[in-house]
Amino acid sequence: MIKKFPFTPILGWSVSRYDTFSTCKRKYFYTYYPKFHSEYAEDEIKELKNLTSEALTIGSLVHDVIETLLKRLQKSTETVDAEKLKKFIAQRVAEYCKKYQFIETYYQTKAILSEAEFTERIFDMVMKFLSTDRYQWLCQLPEESKQQWIIEPGGFGETRIGELKAYCKVDFMLPVGKDVFILDWKTGKEEVVKHRKQLIGYALFAQYHFQNQFENVIPILSYLKEEYAETIPEITNEDISEFENTVQLESDEMKQLCSNVEQNIPRGIDHFPMIDSKLCGYCEFRKLCKKD
Ligand code: SF4
Repeated sequence: MIKKFPFTPILGWSVSRYDTFSTCKRKYFYTYYPKFHSEYAEDEIKELKNLTSEALTIGSLVHDVIETLLKRLQKSTETVDAEKLKKFIAQRVAEYCKKYQFIETYYQTKAILSEAEFTERIFDMVMKFLSTDRYQWLCQLPEESKQQWIIEPGGFGETRIGELKAYCKVDFMLPVGKDVFILDWKTGKEEVVKHRKQLIGYALFAQYHFQNQFENVIPILSYLKEEYAETIPEITNEDISEFENTVQLESDEMKQLCSNVEQNIPRGIDHFPMIDSKLCGYCEFRKLCKKD
């Protein structure tokens, strides 16, 4: 159901890309243009870019586990065996910790959680979700809805907003009758402005890919960190047209730092200044900026 696009090098807007751009231009360069740095090797920059953190690990694994449970739910509504679930999570945690290096260890800032502690935290969040009315609602949806579920679709969520290339990667989309619901799992703190922006992007993603075949697109933020909570913002036509303007302006702003817009080649590193902020103390690239 999701449209595919032929590859083009041109810059694609996303919430996280513009967020990085607004936070620190140097970090933006390291993240999106590592092969263009004249001093540091691409591999050295990518090694830092690939560092994970405790928060990222928990977020990524909660998404993985919920994906597995939703795929299971498409076949069976049998109660999840908590003991087996915990063993499954422990196995995924062990694989993840073996595969990735942690920013906390790399910069020796603090000891990271043990595998058992990671397992407990992820297990708690997932069990919390399994005890919600939302999960019960999912269990009771008819077969024809379940067969159309789109769970963690591959790729980067490429879409078009107006004529612009954009990325809005949804976690879970489910058509139910004349509506399409979009659920987005959040394992961190609530960030109202950023998350609302993401949700409008998801609504546009669904409209574009489903060619407006649904009457309502209902995006939902599902917070799992504390007590389970949902935010279902009202999105008006004005919000959508304002959002399209914002995407245009933000894309133009980022393209101003390209020497070749069509090929998405950045200008020299001097056009991407560093910042002087306490944020540098948490940044994965601080070694390159000599702020470690
Ligand atoms: S360490 Fe600071 S200046 Fe350097 S990339 Fe990170 S946030 Fe930017």
